Amino acid sequence: HAFFLTDLTMAIERTFSILKPDATERNLTGAINAVIEEAGLRIVAQRRIRMTDAQAKTFYEVHAERPFYGELVSFMTSGPVVVQVLEGENAVAKYREVMGATNPAQAAEGTIRKRFAKSVGENSVHGSDSPENAKIEIAQFFTDSDIVG
Ligand code: GDP
Ligand code: MG
Repeated sequence: HAFFLTDLTMAIERTFSILKPDATERNLTGAINAVIEEAGLRIVAQRRIRMTDAQAKTFYEVHAERPFYGELVSFMTSGPVVVQVLEGENAVAKYREVMGATNPAQAAEGTIRKRFAKSVGENSVHGSDSPENAKIEIAQFFTDSDIVG
């Protein structure tokens, strides 16, 4: 029964999003939020911050051994970012789809990264890659009372 399968796989979920410094610098907060909302994702928490070096290093710790880690940390602290919690059906996978591939040259037509990203590094948005990581990432920037569903 496709009906039951759909019911089981469609969970209301939350994901963590960042509008990166290349996006805030070009005043793209509203344009990107429009894409997010048009995709059926609800912005249930949002704050504009300047990430500290420590916050960026912790957030991207999983990439600490990658050659681009230093560049990534300095980029993420180079200007304001907008941290967000997005809510919706299959929010984690849906937002990854709306974002597009890490490298904008490989991103599908209509995706945020295809439309707005400058390069593989300055690629406008972050989105959690699993529900487990979403919970960890949300907790780094928001408390329960910040999130209004
Ligand atoms: P994502 O999950 O699609 O954001 O991609 P990853 O988790 O693989 O990488 C995290 C972030 O590191 C990316 O969004 C980019 O900002 C940056 N990044 C990834 N690969 C490269 C690279 O080859 N060069 C540079 N400069 N940055 C990269
Ligand atoms: Mg990632």
